Amino acid sequence: MTKQAAPDAPIGARRGSDVLERLRERPPALWYRGERVLDVTLHPAFARGVSTLAELYDLQWQHADVCLFDSPTSGRKVGRSFQMPRTHEELRTIGRAMRTWADHTYGMMGRAPDYLNRAITAYAAGASFLAEADPRFGANALRYHEHLRERDLSLTHTLIPPQANRAVGPAGQADPFLAARVKEETDAGLVIRGCRMLATLPIADEIMVFPSTLLKGGDEDAPYAFGFVIPSDTSGLKFICRESVDYGRSHFDHPLGSRFEEMDAVVIFDDVRVPWENVLLYRDVERCNRAFARTGAVVHMAHQVAVKNVAKCEFVLGLAHLLVDTIGVERFQHIHEKLAEIWVNLETMKALLRAAEADASLDEWGVIRPAWNPLDAARNLFPRLYPRMIEIIQQIGASGLVAMPTEQDLKGPLADDIRHYYQAARAEAFDRIPLFRLAWDVSMSAFGSRQVLYERFFFGDPVRMAGALVTNHDAELRALAERVRELVRRGRDEAFADISRQPGEE
Ligand SMILES: Cc1cc2nc3c(=O)[nH]c(=O)nc-3n(C[C@H](O)[C@H](O)[C@H](O)COP(=O)(O)OP(=O)(O)OC[C@H]3O[C@@H](n4cnc5c(N)ncnc54)[C@H](O)[C@@H]3O)c2cc1C
Repeated sequence: MTKQAAPDAPIGARRGSDVLERLRERPPALWYRGERVLDVTLHPAFARGVSTLAELYDLQWQHADVCLFDSPTSGRKVGRSFQMPRTHEELRTIGRAMRTWADHTYGMMGRAPDYLNRAITAYAAGASFLAEADPRFGANALRYHEHLRERDLSLTHTLIPPQANRAVGPAGQADPFLAARVKEETDAGLVIRGCRMLATLPIADEIMVFPSTLLKGGDEDAPYAFGFVIPSDTSGLKFICRESVDYGRSHFDHPLGSRFEEMDAVVIFDDVRVPWENVLLYRDVERCNRAFARTGAVVHMAHQVAVKNVAKCEFVLGLAHLLVDTIGVERFQHIHEKLAEIWVNLETMKALLRAAEADASLDEWGVIRPAWNPLDAARNLFPRLYPRMIEIIQQIGASGLVAMPTEQDLKGPLADDIRHYYQAARAEAFDRIPLFRLAWDVSMSAFGSRQVLYERFFFGDPVRMAGALVTNHDAELRALAERVRELVRRGRDEAFADISRQPGEE
């Protein structure tokens, strides 16, 4: 008989059964429709998303050469997304490992744990930036990264204050404890009270409570400025989950929602005790404002996002093409235009990803960091591309997206009618119907709309992301403007060369 490891013992890369076992032993503090969820592996709102999460961990063992590497401290096989890449080849392999997971969910579980594994790995690599504020914080980042890597635990994260009054920051809200803030500082650590949004994948083992990647705090926000990590079952922590987009139906009826529900939750901190060992940033607003950029965490996260975008574009393009073929609309010109549009989106995402990996360079922490500009372009572009691609699915699918019987109908007394009347140019009814149910699930169901909202917002408000982009590229934009100014001046000088008085001169 194999000896069972202690619940928190380091075991290296996990398998699906380890993931399920840990969630049963240490259930995250999830609340769903008024009740505490006691076992996410059985609860109908969560169980099938959890099961897909577990599949990802089995998958990493099936592709161990890509998805795992040897731990630098223990020699165990550990998840590739915890690796600090020192060479371009290592970075590309991390990309391939992330692709293995993204393909498994067709990009529909954006919050596969590799996303935040990349973040915490970057924070550990940039530990000296954290240590400048307090040597303990740098040591904490390194120790925590190792803790996570050697146990292969998953993370969720929450970065922004609750959506109460967006005209003011966390310090300006009606109640100073609306946004999560430090209530008390003790010898043992911090006591946190208040609320944060929004934790996707609250079925994760631990949570990163960090500053925003985008929003900048002011001096008054010091009590709200921190970065810490705690287990998701910490006393006083509560995740209020949204209604599940898994309707509990069959894979036939609800092909995406029945598999890829990653869930989102608002997080409440009811005097949560955070030991100093878990703190990485504290009260240093300026450092919090810079942390994601300076450590490179935002870049490594955006790398995972670009990989996911490619997988998602491929899925939508394949789906669109199959719809076109099935109902015989392939000869219409606007259909070509629409398929071409999705293809261009796919090639754009592939090119940006490839550029980010090819132009990666050694950063100040000795890590090969993907090039930021292509990833910044991808994260600014995709929130517009994805909703448009979903619009195209609606435009191609048209009434077929509602003329869509269920599995029960197909097994009911009208089965013969359905078989006859739901036939398509190139598919029998019983093949056409699940295809259109898939198109419905990506474009119209609660699952599909949540995906669109996710792509619009998860990396931050696109409006403010664009603002940050313009500010960050100020010098580049000015240099380009100067070249144009020169051309304008040349034309002006040529036009007025033969008269002594220059325009504007009295
Ligand atoms: C499905 C989903 C999953 C998410 N997952 C996570 C997660 O795992 N972790 C996490 O931390 N966050 C997550 N987020 C939250 C995400 O970071 C925010 O949605 C994003 O930062 C925008 O903030 P908000 O939703 O509060 O919108 P708000 O800031 O409330 O904005 C509402 C509207 O007002 C406009 N607006 C507000 N303020 C300004 C301003 N100053 N200037 C211009 N326009 C403004 C916005 O453009 C927008 O149109 C998720 C969001 C979604 C939708």
